[in-house]
Amino acid sequence: MERANIVIIGGGVVGLAIAAKLSELNKDVFIFEKNKRVGQEVSSHNSGVIHSGIHYPRDSLKAELCVKGNRKMYDLCGRNRIPYKRLGKLTVARGEREIKEIEKLKRQGEENGILDLELLDSDQIKKMEPNVAADRALYSPSSGIVEPDELMNYYQAKIGINGAIISTNTVVKSIRKGNSGYEITARSSNDEFVIVANTVINSAGLYADRVAEMAGLDVDRLGYRLHYCKGDYFRITGTPLVRRLVYPVPAGAGLGIHLTPDISGSIKMGPNSYYVDKIDYRVETREEEFRKDVRGYLPSIDNAQINEDSSGIRPKIQGPNDSFKDFVIMNEEGNGLPGLINLIGIESPGLTASPAISDLISEMYENEVK
Ligand SMILES: Cc1cc2nc3c(=O)[nH]c(=O)nc-3n(C[C@H](O)[C@H](O)[C@H](O)COP(=O)(O)OP(=O)(O)OC[C@H]3O[C@@H](n4cnc5c(N)ncnc54)[C@H](O)[C@@H]3O)c2cc1C
Repeated sequence: MERANIVIIGGGVVGLAIAAKLSELNKDVFIFEKNKRVGQEVSSHNSGVIHSGIHYPRDSLKAELCVKGNRKMYDLCGRNRIPYKRLGKLTVARGEREIKEIEKLKRQGEENGILDLELLDSDQIKKMEPNVAADRALYSPSSGIVEPDELMNYYQAKIGINGAIISTNTVVKSIRKGNSGYEITARSSNDEFVIVANTVINSAGLYADRVAEMAGLDVDRLGYRLHYCKGDYFRITGTPLVRRLVYPVPAGAGLGIHLTPDISGSIKMGPNSYYVDKIDYRVETREEEFRKDVRGYLPSIDNAQINEDSSGIRPKIQGPNDSFKDFVIMNEEGNGLPGLINLIGIESPGLTASPAISDLISEMYENEVK
């Protein structure tokens, strides 16, 4: 039987970041990815925003890993020519209730260690973004954008240089704890094979609960069951209406339909958020619903042409009526599975956090697992 030191299940941005980090110091690291290419699921269906960390409660993993990841991401992109822009972000408020919300966000951001946040009045907003209508805004200079595909190309190159193996078209079918490690049965093309690994890292995105279940964990008891929360995007054609990231005050399960310039300056609108039962990336929202949500802070949307763009699906632990749920990043030794590390519910800000998640996993691996 073949042997591996570490098997990472899932070749999205998080699995790739982890593999790039672990293969610096360790031999026989494998990534198994079910699709023909890496990064075809959550990691290529998102906004590409480098978040600052204002949206997550103090002491949560999301807050900690986002703030660390933000700094690491700019450093990584700067040193390795990965396309990025530190655009800055306005979270806009209309009326007293929303102004209170952005003041709360500012306090939360400061508690999380973001010390460059500013509250702007309507004149300052108009100077920065003439097309945006708002009474006040929270300005976050450290928010920006990155090109997720280029980031993943960088991680892939690093993994190759470190001598680790990415095996695409390889779907993990079962995981069994044996006497000498985890027996992983996988299918690659039409061939089934078994490989024994000392350590298994479950970074399977939307499928992470099913992979945890394969290893024998009771995911419902542990609170690992995932809910799919979809978000559609439209794109504004023609002259860009904003230069920065512009967000409304968050409402519901997402951050609200926001405006995200991409690296070329073209503006994506979205994502909205609605829970679904299956993974289907077709856009389901009508154009008018998008216009309605954005009109309040971007009145010129009525004169702009918008086209359907894409959609993404968030792997959420938080169900439709639940309050905030954090990332689960867990060494399962306490549940009788030493050497299994689960990453569950890695929704936003998982892209931003990915360099910090890989550091955390590397520390867990070196200190608790190896
Ligand atoms: C609409 C939307 C917008 C977002 N916007 C942002 C943003 O602006 N900024 C930000 O920081 N974050 C954002 N995120 C979150 C971010 O995209 C994710 O946190 C991140 O991409 C998760 O990466 P991942 O590697 O965990 O998952 P994935 O990219 O889904 O990777 C998991 C991989 O595992 C593979 N896999 C699953 N099961 C198996 C199996 N049995 N065998 C082999 N392979 C398997 C899958 O094929 C997949 O490729 C957004 C997410 C969504 C949905």
